[in-house]
Amino acid sequence: MHVILPAYRLPGTRYEVEIKSAASPTAQEVTVTATDDLLARHTAGLDHGAPGVPTPVPSLHLAVLTCMDARIKVFDVFGLKHGEIHILRNAGGVATDDMLRSLAISQRKLQTREVIVMQHTSCGMATVTEDGFKDELEQDTGLRPTWAVEAFRDVTDSVR
Ligand SMILES: [Zn+2]
Repeated sequence: MHVILPAYRLPGTRYEVEIKSAASPTAQEVTVTATDDLLARHTAGLDHGAPGVPTPVPSLHLAVLTCMDARIKVFDVFGLKHGEIHILRNAGGVATDDMLRSLAISQRKLQTREVIVMQHTSCGMATVTEDGFKDELEQDTGLRPTWAVEAFRDVTDSVR
């Protein structure tokens, strides 16, 4: 099956697309999602990774833990090239158990020796509270999370 999408796509928009397959060439309405858009970009793109980097060991032997905020351009902030560091991200750039798990693998199996914890201004995690966020989820779903939200009030305090 081959799906033909318009060259310019807006996620969340319905498009009539041509679906070609040996069995039945048809046209149908589909809603293009952001995932569809990224898959189309991948298919059209030329850069599918860093095949020139010969090893998973970061050449600078360093890991950065930072927030998942889409505005943070980690490569640009540090002038990085592919293969130089590990980048670990989560909401708030918090050293959760899972981040510690990844850092342990990074240091014990992939030879990193330094860690930078990088926070940023206007972090969304400073706008929620532990109980407030859990209350909101419980009201909407009927389930109260057992995990910690890891909200913080002051971004400077969050890296201490
Ligand atoms: Zn943030």
